[in-house]
Amino acid sequence: MYTTQITVYCIQLQCLFDIIMKQQNSKSETIAIIGAGIIGVTAAFRLKQAGFQVTLFDKEDIAQGCSKGNAGHFATEQVFPLAQKSLLPQVPKMLLDPLGPFSISPSYFHKAIPWFFKFINNMRPKLFNANKEALKSFNKIAMNSWDALISETNLGSLFHKQGSLLTFESVSDNEAIKVQREYQAEGIAVELLNKKQVNNLEPGISNKVTWALLFRDVAHTCCPETLTKEIYKKAEKLGVEFEKCEISTIESDNKLVTITSKNKIYQTDRVLLATGAHSKLLCKQLGFTVPLETERGYHYMVKSANQPNRPIVSYERKFIMTPMKNGLRLAGTVEFAGLDKEMNTRRVDALLLSGKSIWPQIEDTKEGNYRWMGFRPSLPDSKPVVGKSPKHNNIYFAFGHQHLGLTLAAINAEVITDCILDKKPSISLKPYSIDRF
Ligand SMILES: Cc1cc2nc3c(=O)[nH]c(=O)nc-3n(C[C@H](O)[C@H](O)[C@H](O)COP(=O)(O)OP(=O)(O)OC[C@H]3O[C@@H](n4cnc5c(N)ncnc54)[C@H](O)[C@@H]3O)c2cc1C
Repeated sequence: MYTTQITVYCIQLQCLFDIIMKQQNSKSETIAIIGAGIIGVTAAFRLKQAGFQVTLFDKEDIAQGCSKGNAGHFATEQVFPLAQKSLLPQVPKMLLDPLGPFSISPSYFHKAIPWFFKFINNMRPKLFNANKEALKSFNKIAMNSWDALISETNLGSLFHKQGSLLTFESVSDNEAIKVQREYQAEGIAVELLNKKQVNNLEPGISNKVTWALLFRDVAHTCCPETLTKEIYKKAEKLGVEFEKCEISTIESDNKLVTITSKNKIYQTDRVLLATGAHSKLLCKQLGFTVPLETERGYHYMVKSANQPNRPIVSYERKFIMTPMKNGLRLAGTVEFAGLDKEMNTRRVDALLLSGKSIWPQIEDTKEGNYRWMGFRPSLPDSKPVVGKSPKHNNIYFAFGHQHLGLTLAAINAEVITDCILDKKPSISLKPYSIDRF
């Protein structure tokens, strides 16, 4: 009886303490988030809820970077780091095919070499396993965070839980079972479907598809750009502000952070750097050399009389197609060519052929901006940088989410908010620290 009452008093005291902390924050604490992609916008929403005065900065409008045209797949099943040994034998073939799923621009090759050395180093079993465990711990709770965010923002119409398919055309049933077991060994629920079962789920799929893995616990959005913008609108309603300008310098005296754009100097209590693939230079100013590269990826929009019900990934062709509100999005490819080079239209157009092979009803309508390129922010160990700067008490990082920025955005927002509030986050942020390189 007494113990129950004491517990109730403790809970009430904790609530009172949280309210006081929130009020203190709302009075005094300002935070600038640089980068208004999905990572910056979701963090802005959570930090505002936690009581901060939040200003988002971006050189473009909301969600015009990599978060605009991605494949919209909340891909929590993707727990395998890209730096894996099985990739090595495939590299020569990939490099000889300039339109294949993976390419390095010859003029960029020498610049990418240091990154590739680190990438190959991360294939060592000990590092591979550590990276995998870190990614797994992040991915495992990612969907719960999205469920919570979608329900709080009332954006269910943009979030679909139909699972996803990984299709096989030329591999034997034994190979498909092997792939299934690799996922199962990591605790991922996955079912192997035969041709008839695949056809029942997706009647429009090509009859070349012989097997598929069905992941039920994943989701997709019918427009990642709209989703990001809508979350921003909810954050704006709470009081988040937006400044359109490029931040060129950042400096901290450990009391205040000064950031400057071409025309203005801003002072703020804290800064969160969420600048995706463009984070290298600002990190350098803060004293960190980060091996950040961009894996350029493309999408091609097409129409189809009947769209698939869920994202479909091709095991052999290494691309994904996702039903969007304005058509079918064929997305993928990895290209190392830096941030400045124009898009390679031949590489985007190659997605069309792959798409037609899996979904024969595709009509190539070439409407509007049907070709798009985005800069995936990638570190050689396939993990993002998330957490507090070890050199400053008011600078925080959240960038480098490579192929999984959409998937991880909601949980990333929660853990970085906890970190900023000096609370213990739901996962250890040690594997994501900026000084691990
Ligand atoms: C083809 C393709 C398909 C993908 N599919 C998926 C998928 O299905 N699922 C998934 O989870 N992920 C996917 N991704 C990856 C995902 O899109 C990225 O990981 C994610 O968008 C990164 O978000 P971000 O907010 O960190 O970066 P961004 O969206 O690029 O945002 C960074 C922002 O910072 C701004 N900025 C940069 N520097 C400055 C500065 N100095 N001053 C002011 N503003 C600045 C930029 O303008 C930009 O708006 C895909 C990527 C590609 C290319």
